[in-house]
Amino acid sequence: MASGVEEEITPRKAEFLKYILEAGGSVTTTEIARNFGISPSTGSKAIREMAEAGLLAHTPYAGAALTEKGEEFAHYFQRRHRILTLLLSHYGFTQGEACAEVQKFEYYLSHEAVNRICASLGHPRMSVCGRIEHEEGCCFECQE
Ligand SMILES: [Zn+2]
Ligand SMILES: [Zn+2]
Repeated sequence: MASGVEEEITPRKAEFLKYILEAGGSVTTTEIARNFGISPSTGSKAIREMAEAGLLAHTPYAGAALTEKGEEFAHYFQRRHRILTLLLSHYGFTQGEACAEVQKFEYYLSHEAVNRICASLGHPRMSVCGRIEHEEGCCFECQE
């Protein structure tokens, strides 16, 4: 993945991408709006912007599906979240505490920092809130 690009994706949009990934790759505008407590028009505006950025394929009035690029970012955001929750769990945070705490700062961490933390943890495969998927470059030693 091209480094630096993820900083152009706002925290809320990163959350949308992770949510869509966890929902199976596609969602309706209504589902986005309901899940994030925003109005349908705010939801469809965000979807339109992410479609313009090539992250989502948008069908008017139906919903949105992750593009290949969107999926790549969603996986990265999920991995970043889970590496950080695992890190905090080592300091006594429960899963719920770790997830809540990580949401406050995960968006501001660079790809390089995430990869170094991943390496320092020994490229773990499981976090407190799900499986950690690795990617080339960071996790060369632990590829299946
Ligand atoms: Zn979590
Ligand atoms: Zn790794």
